[in-house]
Amino acid sequence: MSYDDQNIFAKIISGEIPCDKIYESEFTIIFEDIRPQAPSHVLIIPRGKYKDINDFSKNANNDEILDLNKSISIVADKLGVSEDAGGNGYRLITNAGKDSHQEVPHLHFHLVAGKPLGPLLVK
Ligand code: 5GP
Repeated sequence: MSYDDQNIFAKIISGEIPCDKIYESEFTIIFEDIRPQAPSHVLIIPRGKYKDINDFSKNANNDEILDLNKSISIVADKLGVSEDAGGNGYRLITNAGKDSHQEVPHLHFHLVAGKPLGPLLVK
């Protein structure tokens, strides 16, 4: 399956659809999830057209990969959820493909925090 230019995050990147942005850099944007599943729930996305982490780790260039990875700690510290920033920690989740229930076909990491998050998977 190729990248779908009409997906909702492509429209957020182009500015066609608004979002509550909390951080942006040359290659990465971070904004609030519209349906938060925890007191802190933000989405970390590359500006480039990658449908999931498999696509990104294969095809993104080193600058894009480095920038997205660096943005994780920047935002976890900024939100105050990292232990470095005095918080209780966080969970990073990314879904890729059908079995994962990926809803939006543009790579995104969910950063969730602000309460005990329970087991990794629903039994
Ligand atoms: P997935 O299931 O693909 O891993 O997660 C997609 C996430 O995108 C969901 O948590 C959903 O709430 C969020 N989402 C869907 N549409 C929008 C939108 O228009 N704006 C924002 N900020 N988040 C969205």
